[in-house]
Amino acid sequence: MILDKSHPTQPYADDQRFSHLIAKAHEAGFRLTPQRRAVLRALLFSDNHPGAEELFRQVKGEYPDLSLATVYKCLDMLKAMGEVLQLEFRDGSSRFDGRRPASHAHVICTRCSAIEDATADPFTWCSNNVSAETGYRLNRYRFDLYGLCPACQAQATRQK
Ligand SMILES: [Zn+2]
Ligand SMILES: [Zn+2]
Repeated sequence: MILDKSHPTQPYADDQRFSHLIAKAHEAGFRLTPQRRAVLRALLFSDNHPGAEELFRQVKGEYPDLSLATVYKCLDMLKAMGEVLQLEFRDGSSRFDGRRPASHAHVICTRCSAIEDATADPFTWCSNNVSAETGYRLNRYRFDLYGLCPACQAQATRQK
C-alpha cells in the first residue's frame, strides 16, 4: 500500500483531520454520538476506500449496538459537509474516501475490488484545456483505471 502523505489532495494528517471534522460537524449542528465518532474514525484511518457494510463490520466489534443506518447517517453527514468522496458503481454499490474528499484518480482491481489512490493525477493537466475548449468551469471529475492489484497478479500466476 502506497501512502503518499505529500499528495496535494490530502489536506490533513489523519489525527488533525479527525479533530477538524469533529469541530466542523459540531459547528454544523450534527450530533456526534460515540458510534458516529467511531465510524468517522474508522473511515478516516482506512486507506482502502471501504463501503458502508465494511465500515459497519469494522466498528461493530467495538460497538455491538451499532446499526447500518448509523453508518449511513454518518456518511450522509460527511457528504453534507463535503468531506467525503463517494465512488458509485453500476451495481449500485458505493465506496468512500474519507481521507481525500477532493476528486482524484483511482486504480481499481477487477478481481478483488481493491481501490487505491493513483498519485499521478491527470486532472490538473487536462482541466485547463477542457475548460478553455468547452467554457465549463470544472469542479470535480471521476477517473478510474481498472486492472489487477499486485496480490491478485501473484495469485493468478500461482494458479496457472
Ligand atoms: Zn486484487
Ligand atoms: Zn481515493
